[in-house]
Amino acid sequence: MIINKPENEIREIINRWAESYFKCELYGFGLSDDLGYPTFFDEDVGCYEFIDEDKSSLHEMGYKADTHRVGKRIGCGFRVKAVFDNNPLIQSKIRRGYEILSPSDILSLGNVKIAVFPRRYYTIKKQLESYGLKEYEDFIHHSFFVAFYNYFMQNRIIVWQTTQAVTTRCTLKCKECNMFMPYYRHPEDISIDVLSADVDAFFSRVDCVQKYTILGGEPLLYRELAKYLQKIQFYSSRIGEVVIATNGSIVPDDELIETALGLGIIRFEINNYNIGGQYSDNHNMLVERIKSSGLSYTLRNYDWSKYRRNTPISDECDLINHYNRCNQPFTAFQDKRYYSCHLPWSAARCEINSDNPSDYLDFMDPSIADLDIVKAGLGHFPREYTSNCAMCNGCDPMFYESIPKAVQI
Ligand code: SF4
Repeated sequence: MIINKPENEIREIINRWAESYFKCELYGFGLSDDLGYPTFFDEDVGCYEFIDEDKSSLHEMGYKADTHRVGKRIGCGFRVKAVFDNNPLIQSKIRRGYEILSPSDILSLGNVKIAVFPRRYYTIKKQLESYGLKEYEDFIHHSFFVAFYNYFMQNRIIVWQTTQAVTTRCTLKCKECNMFMPYYRHPEDISIDVLSADVDAFFSRVDCVQKYTILGGEPLLYRELAKYLQKIQFYSSRIGEVVIATNGSIVPDDELIETALGLGIIRFEINNYNIGGQYSDNHNMLVERIKSSGLSYTLRNYDWSKYRRNTPISDECDLINHYNRCNQPFTAFQDKRYYSCHLPWSAARCEINSDNPSDYLDFMDPSIADLDIVKAGLGHFPREYTSNCAMCNGCDPMFYESIPKAVQI
């Protein structure tokens, strides 16, 4: 998200929206994440198995259901009058306690104020603008509201999510891996000391994070994962949930399961790439192991879109628009740096691209202001695109191209 407004204007916007929120005047937009309605984005089409509290809460702190525990930990839940959704299968029904309305109801309702939930913000924005609604007056990206509300009114820096890669080793060699894992000449684990220092650096500036995702490579290959989870445990009261994103090929050992249970905020995000053979056997064993352990989990079986472009985007305005539409879900923290997107970090690490300081905020730099971090958490960085965007389709709906998942090299 590019944020071109000065601080005082943002503060006024948040004041107005907070007033409406506390008068219970807000509607939500976007609840198709658990119902198989086709969207471009992973968790929107995944096969979810909710834990109990998820069924009764819609968007804790305004974020998606997959951060369901956050409301209990860092603040009150985010409540709306009803939710608009484009999915005709759920319109006029009650879902998680909320009435689901068709977007065609918006005009007949008159003055509405809508917090838009999905990552596909820029598609929904266009739709709402076609009804004559105005951004910041009639609708708002709800993460913008939540992040700035907490910053201005609660003096807290809350970011929706961040990811941290613990290894660049993987059990698979997916040709279209968006993190370039097959292209590392020297795949390796990141040392526990480096990761621990990163965790400390992150929480030295950020009060709370809704979703802290551990990935790789394949994170279950990481030899010191249990130790790393123990490090994270120190900050567990400031994390909504810790997600271990696995390709589904490894069954974790008892030590890891016990440590994960002890942390209490772990969710396994288990992908199914349907590769067959030994992979399928391991995947089934992993699912059974996690289910029987009592850990929270999500089963994901989603389509892949092609990330790598054949021709680069050269025009700078096009790049900015592309970045904005991508609304990338991968802000990352590595090497004490907060990246707007994980891909440039990995591209530099495997030497496809070079390190570019405009891709991140260096948390060791004392001139980085709190407001810079809040904006970065929403995807705003001064250059307004990353060094990897020219060669990446990302999550930009304009460049969506479905491909078979996990085709091996
Ligand atoms: S288009 Fe840019 S921001 Fe989006 S995923 Fe690719 S590199 Fe990241």
